[in-house]
Amino acid sequence: MNNLNEIRRPFIIAGPCSAETEEQIIETALRLKAGGQVDLLRAGIWKPRTRPNSFEGVGEIGLPWLINAGKITNLPVITEVANAKHVEATLKAGFTHLWIGARTTVNPFAVQEIADALRGTGTKIWVKNPINPDLNLWIGGIERLKNVGLTDVNAIHRGFSSAQHKTYRNDPMWEIPMALKTEFPAIQLICDPSHITGKRDLLQPVAQKAMDLIYDGLMIESHIDPDQAWSDAAQQVTPERFTTLIESLILRSEQANESSINEDLKSLRLSIDKIDEEITALIAERMKVAEEIGAYKKEHNITILQPKRWEVIKKRQLEYGQENGLSIKFLVKYLEALHQESIRHQTAVMNK
Ligand code: PEP
Ligand code: MN
Repeated sequence: MNNLNEIRRPFIIAGPCSAETEEQIIETALRLKAGGQVDLLRAGIWKPRTRPNSFEGVGEIGLPWLINAGKITNLPVITEVANAKHVEATLKAGFTHLWIGARTTVNPFAVQEIADALRGTGTKIWVKNPINPDLNLWIGGIERLKNVGLTDVNAIHRGFSSAQHKTYRNDPMWEIPMALKTEFPAIQLICDPSHITGKRDLLQPVAQKAMDLIYDGLMIESHIDPDQAWSDAAQQVTPERFTTLIESLILRSEQANESSINEDLKSLRLSIDKIDEEITALIAERMKVAEEIGAYKKEHNITILQPKRWEVIKKRQLEYGQENGLSIKFLVKYLEALHQESIRHQTAVMNK
């Protein structure tokens, strides 16, 4: 059980997106180690790129480079595997930590093949979220690995592909990793701000947000010469900038130590509870009215769905909500849910 008053230091995975040369890996490892903020050294050996003809990784020759860098710095090392051949090669080279990338988690055949190749080993494994926002695929990947007897199975949140999101490379959709944590409360959940943001200047606020959502750690890409990196140049930072970033994080405990602070928080929470009850009561009241409307519609033989009327309601509430500081994303979801529930109540009355 965690002590809720305790400030927990995050577990930090850092290193370049890709291994490029042995010198690059060793210099990165030494400079990261010098900063004292890294627990696990990463580098991609096989790079699953979205399109061919971009750099697809140095391949197997890079494995001993990473192992060697780990020995020199006394840091454990981790790389990405996407199939059974990768697993065999990494195990043979001496890897005890592996991660599964977002483009692999989407494919249950690939994850199962990796799981089978890892059966009976004590490998520590991290599963990145799938590219698409499908919580069950992520859960399924974790289950496949647990099912072969692996006991150290963890998760990395790297965001989700989205046509809409302009600020970030991958939409974080924080509610999905939160739901994963509900499913597996004991899992170690790591945030990967590098692949979420795609831009080095945005790493800090996303890393801080992860800390405030009680993530267990961070994975951040770091390169000795970021702009010249062979993959993901725009999101990488030098080892020194990485160290400063980690040092500047504000780490908060789940509960305050002074009881007066906890008292203030308690009274604010009571207000929240009261408001939540009022909201629920009001929604229930709204549904009662919807049922009366349903009865009226039944009597006069008119349809439940009234698209024009709903458009008017939606437009008005979107404006009103935004004037009051609510986001359009929230309002759209909330109004849609309200409408569906109304229709459900009216349908029940109609079909009585
Ligand atoms: C990576 O970590 O370099 C990587 C390929 O990440 P993802 O699978 O999240 O795209
Ligand atoms: Mn990368």
